[in-house]
Amino acid sequence: MKRSPFTLEPPDAAARKAVKPVICYPTDTLPRPDLETYRALRDSLELVETLVIPPRDAATWEVPAGHFCRLVCSEGSQVGDLNLFHLHNLSERFYSGKTRALNGTHVGSGDQLFSNFPYLRPIATITHDTLDWYGFDEFGGSVHDVIGTRCDPYTHNLLSHGAQYHYCCHSNLTRALAKKTGLSLHEAEQHVHDVLNVFMCTGFTRDTGQYFMKASPVRPGDYLEFFAEIDLLGCMSACPGGDCSSEHSSDAATCHPLVVEVYKAAKPPHGWKAPPTNGFDRTHGV
Ligand SMILES: [Zn+2]
Repeated sequence: MKRSPFTLEPPDAAARKAVKPVICYPTDTLPRPDLETYRALRDSLELVETLVIPPRDAATWEVPAGHFCRLVCSEGSQVGDLNLFHLHNLSERFYSGKTRALNGTHVGSGDQLFSNFPYLRPIATITHDTLDWYGFDEFGGSVHDVIGTRCDPYTHNLLSHGAQYHYCCHSNLTRALAKKTGLSLHEAEQHVHDVLNVFMCTGFTRDTGQYFMKASPVRPGDYLEFFAEIDLLGCMSACPGGDCSSEHSSDAATCHPLVVEVYKAAKPPHGWKAPPTNGFDRTHGV
């Protein structure tokens, strides 16, 4: 948070501040998906799996490469915290930070979700978002952020001077991943990573730059849909914050289940190939 300065402004402060920003990662050279070839398949999708994620809990599911997956708000306004892994290699996982650097603070149709180093490749492509009408609101807020991390009991412990709460998204994801993989809780916890905050409405305050949340605009029937570029293991928590209008890390908020649907496409998108892992040679100058 930026506080009142201790330092006097230099004489050319206004000129320095007036310098126009440049985009850190110009994505003109980034291979982009041909969204229309993906969307052309949406009319012939076959539902092959439906999963319900209970409130204040998480669940895992598999999405084979070439399948579509919908994350659905089913009963009431509710936020979901999503982790994605390579189904056959837990060490390759969704990389929120680089996805943010490449796409922006919030993701939507046509954006791709990237995996961590040394794999760095698109692992999922967002193909539909029923909240795309929201854009950015007057506070600078939007939905589906890659700027928050996930609610977790460690931060809660610090902020509350020692309280213990066991149903933060971090713990929910840990329990679900341990159950799926047979790993111990502590082993599974090491694989839980910064999430895509599905349906959550967030931004940074203009005056202090602090991370804020507000009531999600999501309503029953809304969904976020993605295409699996590789075999994926999904893990999502129905956040204890509910619609995240007031607080999380407690049982205070009204919470609802979320639904996951996996769809088989009749054929792959025209010209589609599963993305290879990153081409950097990893010699790091040696
Ligand atoms: Zn949460």
